[in-house]
Amino acid sequence: MSDCIFCKIANHEIPSNVVFEDDEVIAFRDLDPQAPTHVLVIPKKHYANICDGVPAETLVAITHAISEVVKAEGIEESGYRVISNAGADAGQTVMHFHMHVLGGKNLGMGLLPADSE
Ligand code: AMP
Ligand code: ZN
Repeated sequence: MSDCIFCKIANHEIPSNVVFEDDEVIAFRDLDPQAPTHVLVIPKKHYANICDGVPAETLVAITHAISEVVKAEGIEESGYRVISNAGADAGQTVMHFHMHVLGGKNLGMGLLPADSE
């Protein structure tokens, strides 16, 4: 996907604030953070969303990366939320599978923004 911004981040073609990286995945800070910790964890290979045939080993690598990120950010004990948007109704804006990892404050009980009906 030559025009995909997250593929370019994964290839280090454009800069990002990397917090974790291995052969399979890269984790970097969101440009528009919604919480004190807001990190995106992505596979280096392009998949459109979580259900786009992502191999099991890649999903394991993503889970491992999330655990490393929350430890490094010091939010393993205080808590965090992991979200993956897929498609228009979820508001997905970057069509490269990514997990949002949010924490560092009380995120509230709701799963949806207060103004969504
Ligand atoms: P989503 O709405 O789930 O597709 O989330 C896409 C996220 O990517 C948003 O939270 C954006 O702020 C974030 N984002 C877009 N471009 C970049 C970038 N170059 N570096 C870091 N985060 C980005
Ligand atoms: Zn991509």
